[in-house]
Amino acid sequence: MIQDIYPSKLDITYHLAEITDDDIVLKFDSDGRILVREDAGRLSFTNGSEGKDLQLVYLFSMDDRRYFLSLDTTGTDKDGYTYKDLREIRDTSLPKDVFIAFTAYHLWRWYTDNRFCGRCADRLVFHEKERALRCPKCRNIIYPRINPAVIVGVIKDDCLLITKYRSGYAHSALIAGFTEIGETLEETVHREVMEETGIRVKNVRYYKSQPWGMAQDILVGFFCEADGDDEIKMDEDELKYAAWVRREDIELQPNNLSLTNEMMKVFKEKEKIYV
Ligand SMILES: [Zn+2]
Repeated sequence: MIQDIYPSKLDITYHLAEITDDDIVLKFDSDGRILVREDAGRLSFTNGSEGKDLQLVYLFSMDDRRYFLSLDTTGTDKDGYTYKDLREIRDTSLPKDVFIAFTAYHLWRWYTDNRFCGRCADRLVFHEKERALRCPKCRNIIYPRINPAVIVGVIKDDCLLITKYRSGYAHSALIAGFTEIGETLEETVHREVMEETGIRVKNVRYYKSQPWGMAQDILVGFFCEADGDDEIKMDEDELKYAAWVRREDIELQPNNLSLTNEMMKVFKEKEKIYV
């Protein structure tokens, strides 16, 4: 998966910091595309010397390099640099660079969507001690938004429940859906599998998680088993395909960047899936 970048490490710890020439500035356009230069699979971002006049916030560091986000919507277009959609760079660039871009995108989306207080409409300011925004007028504190969602590998004997979405991503997928307020992740698993395919499940077991995506989400992967009647009643609004597929017949996605693909792959290759 993209976040598997050992021995590199993303350090997301927040602190107030001033930019220097050695730092990196990440910049997005209003459509959420990131400013990059591509060079044989490596991405270059703008460096700190060009960020001094911009409104910046410290994001994270990777290894010895610090990354800042520009919250300005104007300027800094450079020779050789273009705004790229994250889905475009995802399949062609180094996981380390893509992980930086996705994590920055999540934070950019949150900062951009939260410029004013939802209670009193005053302008928000950066919190001095933690990753948060605060309202100087009514003291409202706004924390980063993360939407939890589940990915579910439903097993029946030697088969996995494979789906394809009605719109968007075209390749094989698993059951997926967002957690509702007041619901445990395990309950989301039961509900989403029932809603999308009419299948009851048992023995829900955690697998791994994926901390990046385009929907301000964290994906939580579970395996489980079909319980009783295995006849699929597909939700045709969400899916165009849902079937029990034997291990050897599972068609994987074109690369192994996503949690969904890793889950399909470990089942297909009979690796141990419960740890
Ligand atoms: Zn307020």
